[in-house]
Amino acid sequence: MTTQRAEQHAFAAEVDQVLSIVVNSLYSHREVFLRELISNASDALDKLSFEALTDASLLGDDKQLRIEIEVDEEKKTLTIRDNGVGMSHDELVQNLGTIARSGSRQLMNALAAKGGKDENLSLIGQFGVGFYSAFLVADRVVVTSRRVGSDEAWRWESEAKDGFTIEPTTRDARGTEIVLHLKDDADDFMRSWEVRNLIRKYSDYVRHPIRMKTETEEDGEKKTDWETVNQASALWTRPRSEVTDEQYAEFYKHLGHDWNDPLAWTHFKVEGTQEMTGLLFVPSQAPMDLFEKTSRGVKLFVKRVFIMEDCEELLPEWLRFMRGVVDSEDLPLNVSRELLQQDRATRAIRKQVIKKSLSLLQELADEGVTKTQEEGEDGEKKEVERNRYETFWKAFGRVLKEGIHFDPEHKDEIAALLRFESTREEGLTSLHDYLGRMQPDQPGIYYVTGDGLSACRNSPHLEALKARGYEVLYMADPIDEWVLQRLEEFEEKKLISAAKGALDLPESEEEKKAHEEQEKQLEGLVGSVKEALGDKVKDVRLSHRLKDSPACLVSEEWDMSPHLERILRANGQQVPDQKRTLELNPNHPVVQALDKMATDGSPDLGSWSSMLYDQALLAEGTMPKDPAAFARQVADLMQKAAR
Ligand code: ADP
Repeated sequence: MTTQRAEQHAFAAEVDQVLSIVVNSLYSHREVFLRELISNASDALDKLSFEALTDASLLGDDKQLRIEIEVDEEKKTLTIRDNGVGMSHDELVQNLGTIARSGSRQLMNALAAKGGKDENLSLIGQFGVGFYSAFLVADRVVVTSRRVGSDEAWRWESEAKDGFTIEPTTRDARGTEIVLHLKDDADDFMRSWEVRNLIRKYSDYVRHPIRMKTETEEDGEKKTDWETVNQASALWTRPRSEVTDEQYAEFYKHLGHDWNDPLAWTHFKVEGTQEMTGLLFVPSQAPMDLFEKTSRGVKLFVKRVFIMEDCEELLPEWLRFMRGVVDSEDLPLNVSRELLQQDRATRAIRKQVIKKSLSLLQELADEGVTKTQEEGEDGEKKEVERNRYETFWKAFGRVLKEGIHFDPEHKDEIAALLRFESTREEGLTSLHDYLGRMQPDQPGIYYVTGDGLSACRNSPHLEALKARGYEVLYMADPIDEWVLQRLEEFEEKKLISAAKGALDLPESEEEKKAHEEQEKQLEGLVGSVKEALGDKVKDVRLSHRLKDSPACLVSEEWDMSPHLERILRANGQQVPDQKRTLELNPNHPVVQALDKMATDGSPDLGSWSSMLYDQALLAEGTMPKDPAAFARQVADLMQKAAR
């Protein structure tokens, strides 16, 4: 007999860190390890049943897909076994030695920055630790696996601390067996009834039978039998009235590899030409990799057979936060990615998924603030106000907004779901509620874009609008610029930029007269400033939008906003220099002083004009072309004032 030495491997750096965090912060939640391992086993069975669709011989004589759980009080072990796809040597090393999931790096950084146990828990929940949760209850884990279609089997073993070993072994059946050598304080998990309860609690919805060994005595003879512990029917095929909220929540956790409860869900059946059942969830927290567009999305089943996960054909990118399953009666069982892309049934399913998701979100939005009884940290019940839609919006609003840009067909429905902060300063508002508060003479929906809320809040462009009692929406997110390119109006009211065009505010006869007089009076000044600034600006004119600031820069209606210009430049794109119009506030003392300089022919007019221009740039967050020159001019001015 040849003995091959076991290969010794170190864990990838992230695994080491994840392991120590898992063990340190999840102690009081450690029973979830069972759910994680059963979910993995169930996924392995799904993968096999999918592969067997095109090659039935893979199943051989072992056709009954199942998960087996065995406890051994003498050996102090708990075993989880499946006859799914199994893992090859390389898959064992790759899957159980590294963390392939994108976002692990961010998780580590986030954990390093925080530190409280509760925060860790929720962060880890977002990320999911899967297999490694085995070390919550075991000090030694032995995985034996045989890939379907191969006759090689491998034994992987680890005590967490010093990496893992891997060596060849033998195994009669395909699939994976995980033996947990339980820690001394984890003997709960050696007791059959305890494990049985956990399976019912966390894994009842798993579609494959989960079996446990039972021992009975008949006529003095010991008999062992396998008993199915879970309901083992696809949860979505059960009538809604028979599924409890807890079951939906547990199903979601299994499906989405999330540890948090879902925020909301919709369970539906569509009949007619395209028959399907769907169960869609909105998570309550964004996963780490939300913006990397690599989410798990929606799983596709055909007549209860798992076909594929992360099925992008069924879910547009702007809904990539949704989780769930869709079970079609019409797609062929041997459907491939290529076929999905062409199939009419796919389009019909996608339409339903979008429709149901949007109406679920609209329902959440309509729900507003609700009061619930929640248990505080001290165990006391207290009334808490919750706004589920705001929770959703903060986690996923930015993704949903992408839909306005990329999916014109659903633009109006998505627009109704948008939320913005505004000059009202009372939290988020919808566009619909904004319309309800509009002044009778107000021509449209005003907004201002900028880098962050405070830039919006302090924008000089808002001054006159605020003075008239017009509410202005703050569009502080870079993606808002893309939203605005497509969203020209809402419920027949135009969206108007506070920073673009001439801002034709309605004015009374008196105001009109006063303005005309000012125009005449300051004609000379406007001309001189224009001459002084030369081709830096498109034009110079008097402003009707300013109250407290001396000047601001204004784009033409169809120009790119300076905010968008900055975003594009920051992304390395070539943006042509766009000239804008400098507006002067005729009522501001600086402008009036400037007028005097113009009349007196003062030599300082040139540098004052350019300072006014540069400070208008700064006020909107753009760096002046020559910051050093600007700083020098300010210093000069201060020096003169100090004399
Ligand atoms: P994940 O969240 O991706 O499931 P895990 O750490 O739980 O992360 O598992 C890592 C990978 O190991 C899985 O994606 C899967 O490919 C593989 N794996 C885990 N358990 C099994 C199993 N019982 N059978 C086959 N493959 C498995």
